[in-house]
Amino acid sequence: MAENNNSEKEKKYLLEHDRPNCIGCGACVAVAPEHWDMNDDGKADILHGKNRKDEWQEKEISEEEFKVNMEAAESCPVNVIHLKRLKDNEKLI
Ligand code: SF4
Repeated sequence: MAENNNSEKEKKYLLEHDRPNCIGCGACVAVAPEHWDMNDDGKADILHGKNRKDEWQEKEISEEEFKVNMEAAESCPVNVIHLKRLKDNEKLI
């Protein structure tokens, strides 16, 4: 029923960006332009992400959005992109 259709869209992961430590290389934008963009200040932003008080950014994403963001995280030369599973807060990268 509708639950099956919704499961792919259900938010299961937290995408996080340690923005203060981003060096603005643009790799994440090249890999996942639908989730990342370059800001005029030379650093990347999570598109439609939330800015936190600690200056990190975050966005909840679904299973279908996970793979490309994992690729973006793996492409980041300074490892400032992180993914957590929401249900148990397990850090995946
Ligand atoms: S790949 Fe990492 S360092 Fe490069 S712009 Fe993206 S978040 Fe910043």
